[in-house]
Amino acid sequence: MKPLDLFALDRLASAEDLAIRDTVRSFVSDRIRPEIADWFEAGQFPVRELARELGRLGVLGMHLEGYGCAGTSATGYGLACLELEAGDSGLRSLVSVQGSLAMYALYAFGSEEHKQHWLPALAAGEAIGCFGLTEPDCGSDPAGMRTVAKRDGTDWVLSGTKMWITNGSVADVAIVWARSDEGIRGFVVPTDTPGFSAPTIARKLSLRASVTSELVLDDVRLPADAVLPGAAGLSGPLSCLNEARFGIVFGALGAARDSLECAIGYAQDREIFAKPLAAFQLTQAKFADMTLELGKGVLLALHLGRLKDEGCLTADQVSLGKLNSVREALAIVRECRTILGAAGITGEYPIMRHSANLESVLTYEGTSEVHQLVIGRAVTGHSAFR
Ligand SMILES: Cc1cc2nc3c(=O)[nH]c(=O)nc-3n(C[C@H](O)[C@H](O)[C@H](O)COP(=O)(O)OP(=O)(O)OC[C@H]3O[C@@H](n4cnc5c(N)ncnc54)[C@H](O)[C@@H]3O)c2cc1C
Repeated sequence: MKPLDLFALDRLASAEDLAIRDTVRSFVSDRIRPEIADWFEAGQFPVRELARELGRLGVLGMHLEGYGCAGTSATGYGLACLELEAGDSGLRSLVSVQGSLAMYALYAFGSEEHKQHWLPALAAGEAIGCFGLTEPDCGSDPAGMRTVAKRDGTDWVLSGTKMWITNGSVADVAIVWARSDEGIRGFVVPTDTPGFSAPTIARKLSLRASVTSELVLDDVRLPADAVLPGAAGLSGPLSCLNEARFGIVFGALGAARDSLECAIGYAQDREIFAKPLAAFQLTQAKFADMTLELGKGVLLALHLGRLKDEGCLTADQVSLGKLNSVREALAIVRECRTILGAAGITGEYPIMRHSANLESVLTYEGTSEVHQLVIGRAVTGHSAFR
């Protein structure tokens, strides 16, 4: 029996959502698992090829309707994220940034022309998108952004620097958030626009199978219609982050599940003091506690998925899920690593890779501290952000 089987979770998802889960699980098994350790070690992976394959799989912007998107339930999207991240958090990040950040921003706030032009290509993986909100001097507090958009006649001219941008140097289109006379606005920036460059950030020890870049905007001139007409102020980018966080609520638990299954398998085979490591009480206590936390995490994720499908999921509730899933997933993968002993630190097993990846997942899309502050504000009525 696998740990999650104990919870009979399949009863909580529709047949369609379970079919999505199984399809993505097979893709990860056949296409990602045989290669991922090498991609991670090399810090390189075939991102364009994978984007097209993920497009054919139907997972890019899968919960959006029309424009070549699959129009699945939110729960189906969450389960897909869980399976992708059981392969690697980098793979799930590619899908999250494409679908929940770049595509969602266009879908929710773009003009009909923006949607027609970009969404079908992004859904098919023929084009890659990125989302530039964070800057070198402001991450958790995006209101402090320094990137500016100034009017010049009817054109817009963007200048500034964005930092830690997933998919940045491989993107065809960047959604860039900038300060203007009209407040914070979002811009659709084709990455071949003069003045735009995206140097890749090197020497990452986490999410090595994911592209992370700086975005440099050196007087990037854009036509009047480059602005996203439906987004004014920070609520625009924050609602996109909320979409991506929802995927992480499920996704991080995939990395935990993969690590736990690996550790259980290892402990069955490893003989210590003349019996299997899995037969010791101390080891079983670890497995019992991890199974419980994993199952509780998935139950919460499925509940949030249902709320989202009913159209009543709040941002505070997403914070509950993001904080819980990533924090518990990290605790689980670290405990799993102890079960493998020295073998656990190598790339022969997925656990250390998941552990390194989850350090990024803990930080992006709102750090754990930021989500604690959100939940703290909800239950006390006091904002402690400043
Ligand atoms: C691999 C990776 C990919 C990323 N991809 C993207 C992307 O595609 N697009 C994008 O825009 N951004 C992206 N990010 C950036 C990410 O969203 C930010 O790193 C994150 O928001 C945190 O910002 P920061 O790193 O500047 O940390 P800071 O905001 O400087 O935070 C530093 C520490 O201070 C804590 N802190 C912050 N505020 C408070 C407070 N009020 N009280 C107490 N403690 C506080 C934080 O929790 C953290 O522990 C990515 C990051 C990584 C690592």
